Amino acid sequence: MPQDARTETLVIIGSGPAAWTAAVYAARANLDPLVIEGEPSRDMIPGGQLMYTTDIENFPGFPEAIDGQDLMRRMKEQAERFGTRTIMENVSSVDFTTYPFVLRPSYSDEIRAKSVIVATGARANWLGLDNEIRLAHSGGGVSACAVCDGALPAFRGKTLAVVGGGDTAMEEANYLTKFAGEVVIIHRRDSFRASRIMAERTLANPKIRVEWNTQVADVLGDDFITGLRLKDTVTGEERDMEVGGLFVAIGHTPNTQFLQGSLDLTPSGYVVAPHAWRTATSVDGVFAAGDVMDDYYRQAITAAGTGCMAALEAERWMAHHGVSEAEPPVLETAESSIGHPEEQMA
Ligand code: FAD
Repeated sequence: MPQDARTETLVIIGSGPAAWTAAVYAARANLDPLVIEGEPSRDMIPGGQLMYTTDIENFPGFPEAIDGQDLMRRMKEQAERFGTRTIMENVSSVDFTTYPFVLRPSYSDEIRAKSVIVATGARANWLGLDNEIRLAHSGGGVSACAVCDGALPAFRGKTLAVVGGGDTAMEEANYLTKFAGEVVIIHRRDSFRASRIMAERTLANPKIRVEWNTQVADVLGDDFITGLRLKDTVTGEERDMEVGGLFVAIGHTPNTQFLQGSLDLTPSGYVVAPHAWRTATSVDGVFAAGDVMDDYYRQAITAAGTGCMAALEAERWMAHHGVSEAEPPVLETAESSIGHPEEQMA
């Protein structure tokens, strides 16, 4: 690393609602944050998951709904208004064993940071069919989030398909019965992988039926979904089924590959936040916010909320450790630095 390389006070990795909210709070607290936004690829774009959706009806403050890309542009502008700096690259690896921490972007020189917020989100898993991805990205009735999209007028009273067989698929199917005429779960096996209680509740719901041993071979429709081409996984036979919406519920993949071995992760790859109602991670001075540490709520507003928490926690951590001074602090363990901020600063 060049000797004269600048050491950043706070680097925020990511560019969804968690990252921009953290940046707004950090910039207003004079922490001069640098946001490393990520770079465009087939399944991830700067701005996060909301870049793939149109009408957002459940983010407070927008009674008339707001377009996903518009919301993310506004969040970024708000962070930049207070002086947030940005780089549109991925962080490809990190070294949290040294302090200041080291972050390696894909193209630029290494960046040193006194504190880090990881807000890299998660990717919804898709089936990988061309028409599925096209209609998901164009607001054509294909979604990966029933809570987000189920209540949209386009889905009301329709036959809606849910693909999957785990707890998430059961939850999505049950939720959709509030709006749909009928919900059809399409599952490639002859039994669910979901917990027994969730499966029983789902099978007892009169508005839900299951197509067992069936997979989606294609999604039909030009501008909006009209049906599915289904394939029997036992006989190989194909047939078409009319549907007014498709909800893919086959899990999410957290964007934590670049953190492997550096932070404690759950078996599914989510960042572990060891303390309830805190965003501190297994490494002192590194915080996490949004879907990358939350496999339960996965909403824009909860991501924004934890982004706010992470910025406040980072600020208090730095104040507590005197990090803004030239000398690097003597770090305590994550365990010892947790507590009420007023206790920390006493
Ligand atoms: P994300 O939005 O996932 O953003 C993370 C970003 O970080 C990535 O896009 C990428 O640019 C960047 N990144 C990733 N890895 C790296 C790296 N190594 N280096 C640098 N940058 C990186 N929620 C709602 O509340 N309402 C809705 O109506 C709604 N609709 C949705 C519709 C769809 C189709 C989807 C997929 C999700 C929807 N959600 C909705 C959920 C919501 O989008 C997420 O909960 C929210 O975006 C999570 O925000 P986040 O900040 O944690 O991360």
